[in-house]
Amino acid sequence: MLFDTRPKTKLEDLFDRIDERKAFEDALYNYPLVIVTGLRRVGKSSLIKAMLNELQEISIFLDGRSLYSSSGGNITHFHLISQIESELARVSLKYKIVKFLKELRGVSIKGNSITLIRKELDLSSLMERLNEFAAKNGKNIILYIDEAQYLKYYGSRGGKDLLTLLAFIYDNLHNTKLVITGSEIGLLHDFLKLSDYESPLYGRAYSEICIEPFKRKTSIEFLKKGFAQINLPVSFDIEEVVNILDGIPGYLVLFGVKYREFLDVKEAIEKVFNYLSGMISSELKELEKRSPRYLKILKHIAAGVDSWAGLKRLLIASGDIVGDSRLYEALNILQQTSWIKKADGKYNIVDPVLKRVING
Ligand code: ADP
Ligand code: MG
Repeated sequence: MLFDTRPKTKLEDLFDRIDERKAFEDALYNYPLVIVTGLRRVGKSSLIKAMLNELQEISIFLDGRSLYSSSGGNITHFHLISQIESELARVSLKYKIVKFLKELRGVSIKGNSITLIRKELDLSSLMERLNEFAAKNGKNIILYIDEAQYLKYYGSRGGKDLLTLLAFIYDNLHNTKLVITGSEIGLLHDFLKLSDYESPLYGRAYSEICIEPFKRKTSIEFLKKGFAQINLPVSFDIEEVVNILDGIPGYLVLFGVKYREFLDVKEAIEKVFNYLSGMISSELKELEKRSPRYLKILKHIAAGVDSWAGLKRLLIASGDIVGDSRLYEALNILQQTSWIKKADGKYNIVDPVLKRVING
């Protein structure tokens, strides 16, 4: 069903994305490392989950965002291991990995359940073992790390220990593929440091797929199909809705869900906006911990102030005496986190719906 707010896990539920599906599959079998980027809610997780399910590979899923929030922003070996442990439990329902892991130090097997002993387990040995299992069964292990930029909060060295593990996997485990996503594209690259020669992953070749919002026509078709699936006649102007909501599938899904609930277009759109403002403020809260300036800057940009000088003038006028380097840093962070984009020397909010929401 299209109007489901969770990431899709089956191809039959994935709308369009024909080119992206092919690009992903090609990348997966041609590169050890595939990076999937795109705005929040554009459909990265959906594409990957549906494809991995279709390709019948063995996936181990790590969720950077949930590791970050469940650990209070300080991800330890323990948090990582417990996510891997539950992934192994899931995989073992389908594949006979239990016997295969039996002899491994740091793995304790009772019946069919696998317990990882944090102090004893060496993650690279575990990955090596899983790789061997995959090779024997003519499969690949896909280590899929979602919103990986958060893993810079793993350990005490900006996630470097994890990058070392990824580099080991990349170089040595030929039946293991790395699939990494990030909505905060600048931060993701900043974390992976593929072009920084001091980084463990330096110089590794990879394929990057950027998922774009739907084109206008696709968005209209998406809504039509979604409403048809739930047998709800469309008695309003779908094009008008797409004019407002644009092409991020996550917003279209939310609209579908809200329209089904309230049967009123205006109210449904308002609910989508309400939801988004809640989400923005909680996401911005993370940024604001560093400086309350971010939201102010976003508000000015949403209102149409698009130049460095204009932003600086307004901040100072509001009593925020910001120096050049601080303003530069703030704008840089907003770009790295994919909130704004700079083109032809002008700043703009990337997502038109967020722009409206921030504008209030
Ligand atoms: P991301 O991982 O980029 O943040 P998700 O995959 O979580 O995005 O998708 C956000 C929402 O949009 C979910 O409700 C998902 O079901 C829906 N969605 C995204 N892409 C598609 C698609 N191609 N077809 C159907 N639903 C989609
Ligand atoms: Mg996602």
